[in-house]
Amino acid sequence: MSVNIRTRFAPSPTGPLHIGGARSALFDYLIARKLGGTFIVRSEDTDRERSSAASEQNILEALRWLHIDWDEGIDAGGAYGPYRQTERLALYGQYTERLLKDGKAYHCYCTEEELEAERRSQLARGETPRYIGACRHLTEEQRAAYEAAGRKKVVRFHVPVGEQLVVRDLIRGEVVFDSGGIGDFIIVKSDGIPVYNYAVVIDDITMNITHVIRGDEHLSNTPRQLVLYQALGEPAPVFGHVSLILNTEGHKMSKRDGDTAVLDYRAKGYLPEALVNFVVLLGWSPSDEREFFTLEELTEQFSLERVAKSPAVFDVNKLNYINAHYLKQADPDRLAHLALPYLREEGLFVGELTDEAQRWIRDFVQAVLDHLAYLAQVKEYIHYFTGSEVPAAQAEVQDILTGEQAPQVIRLFKDKIQTAEDLSAEAVKGIIKAVTKELKLSGKLVFMPLRAALTGQMHGPELYHIVSLLGRENVLRRLARY
Ligand code: GLU
Repeated sequence: MSVNIRTRFAPSPTGPLHIGGARSALFDYLIARKLGGTFIVRSEDTDRERSSAASEQNILEALRWLHIDWDEGIDAGGAYGPYRQTERLALYGQYTERLLKDGKAYHCYCTEEELEAERRSQLARGETPRYIGACRHLTEEQRAAYEAAGRKKVVRFHVPVGEQLVVRDLIRGEVVFDSGGIGDFIIVKSDGIPVYNYAVVIDDITMNITHVIRGDEHLSNTPRQLVLYQALGEPAPVFGHVSLILNTEGHKMSKRDGDTAVLDYRAKGYLPEALVNFVVLLGWSPSDEREFFTLEELTEQFSLERVAKSPAVFDVNKLNYINAHYLKQADPDRLAHLALPYLREEGLFVGELTDEAQRWIRDFVQAVLDHLAYLAQVKEYIHYFTGSEVPAAQAEVQDILTGEQAPQVIRLFKDKIQTAEDLSAEAVKGIIKAVTKELKLSGKLVFMPLRAALTGQMHGPELYHIVSLLGRENVLRRLARY
């Protein structure tokens, strides 16, 4: 049997792409890729006040950065466009006319005050507030009177009562709603703009969407969408509602938190492959103990059966651990390129890079790699590797530098650096060893004063890398006072 699988990611461009959105997009993408289907990206931009082109651009750029590429949709085009809801208003209008004509929807002229009064009296009776259909059976005269009075009108959908609405959810199982709890909801607002629950159904129908994987917050919308599918005589897609993402304190992650935006992680120097790996594990777990997956591997291994119902926890330490892993795997030239902006922020390497500078940056990043969770952290290390000044010294280093052996260690090391032909990391390693041998000292008694004198720190990246990358002149200047 060949089913033409079509999945979609349908963000509202009201802010940057956040981690939860990236997860929905990734899961939809993986389902499509795994089953040889089509992945679509479209925009739910009917909230004109909050939507912006900048947000749309941010979302698309973040998806591209993560390599979640789409076959159809915004920028990609396709046979089912346009892919922005504001460009599809005429289509929604046709559906609305049909529903009105079939008596499945009606114009409602109720004012805010009338609705509020109804809501209050329902609450007073202990009922769930919902629209009970005051305008459902208006006579021609009543309608004409409201029109003449200039009342605003919306279109409401007539929800049948007494029906069980069953969401067959690939993650949550069967979730049953009673249609009586819904009330006749608005499908088109007074400004003629359809609401999300309505437009999304028409989009999913007309784009032949087969699978909808989206955030848990939409599960409660699904019964409204199901009654619309019924009314339009169309089969609903298969749903999968992915659990909430909580922060480590157990609160819901909010899209307003700056550090939930995907591109914030790019700005800090996280690798996209690390973020994808981290995001997929917010809910999905593999059948074995493995932790690291490329997008290609996920395309084969991902399945909704292994997506948990329970909330996922966003733990930045886990992300750092995953990113550190991918940094160690990454091509050194790529990392040098990605690290450059942070070095420029420190006023270094401005202007065109020479080949030598490029090699230097590459070696520098490799020298500090074991210390990095993300690339912006190169800023914390760069000053040990450049310039003739020792960065501000920690207090403890004084004890090391006033140690009995320190002066002779530093002097002998200086002599050797002065005359050395080769200052490659390997050669510097040899020089340090030679100092230990000649002075008959333990490695520690040699390393510690040298590190203290050169960097002002007790710990840090390998000393021989620091010396090699500082170069003869800077090393000798840093040690000049000894
Ligand atoms: N526009 C909705 C959102 O950004 C998506 C709804 C859906 O996927 O059905 O949350």
